[in-house]
Amino acid sequence: MDKDLAEQVAEIAQRVVASGAISANGHGNVSVRVPGAEEMYFTAGPSLRGHPASAVVRVGLDGTLLEGNLPPIQGAVVAMHTAMYQDHPEVGCVLHTHSPYATAYAVAQRPIGCWVEAMAMFGLADGVPVAGYGPRGSAEAVAHIRRAVTPGVPAVLLANHGVLVFHRTPDLAVLVGSVVEEAAQAGINTSGLGGPVEIPEDMRAAALQRAMAFESRGTVRA
Ligand SMILES: [Zn+2]
Repeated sequence: MDKDLAEQVAEIAQRVVASGAISANGHGNVSVRVPGAEEMYFTAGPSLRGHPASAVVRVGLDGTLLEGNLPPIQGAVVAMHTAMYQDHPEVGCVLHTHSPYATAYAVAQRPIGCWVEAMAMFGLADGVPVAGYGPRGSAEAVAHIRRAVTPGVPAVLLANHGVLVFHRTPDLAVLVGSVVEEAAQAGINTSGLGGPVEIPEDMRAAALQRAMAFESRGTVRA
């Protein structure tokens, strides 16, 4: 076990918790791809809150446990992480949570639209699709996820379960997890106001371009 990588995974779990995009019980899992190997490091603890590095396990992308102890609840969802690494060579980090507002959309089996500007800025201009229900981590659930994933879109809602985010880096994955939750919260908060209004498609591209222009300029110093 690479101690540094296990520490890094535990630290990402704390960042997910700090982002607020997490359910009260802290359920969820974080994994990172091991560079240059067909392996991932995966949180096998019962909660992401205070998840220790000692409970991080090493798992082959074929699902084989290589190092550490994998309890049944966490073992059941390994396949939805490994599938994202198998299908998307650029993906370096996968997050799964039951963040409450996004999970409400997952339970309602309703996609989240692009009604919050941050979605246009962070790869979610087409919204967050819903992957149909299957028992968590089952072949059926993973097939639904694979079918629902839109090229370039780093998140899916898992029907009647929660959210799955997959991105190049842990930073981006944590960020997208919080953007999805923020959009879901805004969507629900507007339900008494006529519901959310999506940003017109051409304006989604404009929002991204403006964000990229500022990003390329970097921090401006006085
Ligand atoms: Zn779950």
